[in-house]
Amino acid sequence: MVLTSTEIKISRILENGIEFSCQMCGKCCRGFNDGEVYLYKDDILKLADFLKINGKKGLRDFAKKYLKVVDDSFFWKEPGAEKGKTYRYKNLGFKFTGGDEQCHFLRGNKCSVHTARPFQCRSFPFWQMMVSSKKNFEDYTKKCKGLQVLKGKFYTKEEILNWAQEEYEIEKKYFLEMKKNNFNIMKVHPYLSKEMLQE
Ligand code: SF4
Ligand code: SF4
Repeated sequence: MVLTSTEIKISRILENGIEFSCQMCGKCCRGFNDGEVYLYKDDILKLADFLKINGKKGLRDFAKKYLKVVDDSFFWKEPGAEKGKTYRYKNLGFKFTGGDEQCHFLRGNKCSVHTARPFQCRSFPFWQMMVSSKKNFEDYTKKCKGLQVLKGKFYTKEEILNWAQEEYEIEKKYFLEMKKNNFNIMKVHPYLSKEMLQE
């Protein structure tokens, strides 16, 4: 996802806040075809802990079974620089399985790791790309029952912006760590196996 500013804009559709509660249709856990469930270090460690996986070998097996290497990008302007640029690099995402491409942790239509689910799952539908774009929000509305009924917990404009801002900070943190390590994902996630880079 390309982000262009730390200043998150909010589309008119969300300006007065919205009611949203997941209706547990499970659709977003079955692959929306056009996206990945990105996983950051904290997500992986929290999930591994929840599944009682420890040590380097445990994490290596976990990564092989559940994760894949995916393309990602981030717009970055060095402090004081006139121009910035979009960097492209590798990130991690969930491997979806089966004919309907579902998340390993989906049972029926329920998330079996609910309390340890990744930030991207927790923060839906308040991803920056949805918060700032009416079109993206409407596109996802076609696929998400919760966005169609718009009933349940009320989220204020500030709460919505906080989710989007937190997402930006998580992505920035990962980008800066990758940049510091010359975009070598094996250094940032030392438990990955080389084969995963070739898959
Ligand atoms: S698509 Fe929407 S309603 Fe369905 S599981 Fe995902 S968030 Fe919930
Ligand atoms: S971790 Fe849970 S919420 Fe996230 S994609 Fe998998 S089943 Fe869905």
